[in-house]
Amino acid sequence: MNYNIAVIEGDGIGPEIVNAAIEVLKLAGKKYKANFVFKKAKAGGAAIDYLGTPLPKETIQICLESNSVLLGAVGGPKWDILPGNLRPEKALLGIRKELGLYANIRPAKLLPELKTACPLKKEVADAGFDMVIVRELTGGMYFGENGRKNGPYGPEAFDTECYSEMEVERIGIIAFELARARGKKLISIDKANVLESSRLWREVIHKLGANYPDVQLTDMLVDNAAMQLVKNPKQFDVVVTSNMFGDILSDEASQITGSIGLLPSASLGETKRGMYEPIHGSAPDIAGQDKANPIATILSAAMMMRLSFSQEEAAQYIENAVSRVLAKGMRTADIALPGESVLSCSQMIKEILDELK
Ligand code: ATP
Repeated sequence: MNYNIAVIEGDGIGPEIVNAAIEVLKLAGKKYKANFVFKKAKAGGAAIDYLGTPLPKETIQICLESNSVLLGAVGGPKWDILPGNLRPEKALLGIRKELGLYANIRPAKLLPELKTACPLKKEVADAGFDMVIVRELTGGMYFGENGRKNGPYGPEAFDTECYSEMEVERIGIIAFELARARGKKLISIDKANVLESSRLWREVIHKLGANYPDVQLTDMLVDNAAMQLVKNPKQFDVVVTSNMFGDILSDEASQITGSIGLLPSASLGETKRGMYEPIHGSAPDIAGQDKANPIATILSAAMMMRLSFSQEEAAQYIENAVSRVLAKGMRTADIALPGESVLSCSQMIKEILDELK
């Protein structure tokens, strides 16, 4: 099979980690007879410096013509002084919109080799956890009507949480399908005891549930979910929630795995084309120092093989190589415990590539 991959290195550590993922994909492609054509495109700060805009038209075109997008990270202090619509992060919203990506999929798994990095109680870490958070990405309060006005006590501001049945249904289908392919347990998180939008969310998810009798559906209020994530994370398999709740809970879930340098993510829509990126940012504090952990981006490439190209074996081949390298005790600085020896980014990449060869 031939696949066109749009590659956006982005800023900070972006180029080093994305190039690691490209090398990994090439080796996986060789083994599983997939031929990749990588086309580089600029977005974020790099595009601002080069063309004066965070998301050039040419980049959108390259993404639209691709089978999937591999992204490093965008942003950095250099561009923080720019107005909102010219900031590097605007590129991400633009790509999601142009590609119709409304579902963000974030696995959060505690690798047995890294239990000691988990900040939770030892018995909770020993039990382990392996969940996937499905976050609605293009609706809710971040996109609802907002504004300012004068109220009886002076200036007021408002943001509106609004979901249509269509928006809840399409994210719900992605979550149910994922749950069906995993542990057949779906937890839908809302605030239906207070919010009307959550009551609609719950109704739609339950209606959909009738089509998935093999998936056990449970509702959980968001405040309880925030507690349960640190108390008993093992109970979560697939989680589906709104844009804002997902934003907060997926960061909480990533923190309990020990390091943001390890976690991949995917953004999906109606088609198989997705955008794959590590959950971390451009880490400007370590950019250009060969210190970054490339694993989150390498695992994002594995997710691309699984979710966009339906190449499950190739995805596992990549994931297993990463696990074996970690099992051997190889650590970059972000996941090393005091006293453990530390690999540079390029050394970690070499270890993983050697494991794949
Ligand atoms: P953003 O708002 O884009 O998420 P941020 O500065 O808040 O940016 P990150 O860029 O993710 O967040 O960086 C947070 C911290 O984590 C930094 O100290 C950074 O060096 C570290 N970090 C992030 N990614 C990695 C990585 N892949 N390897 C090692 N350390 C990382």
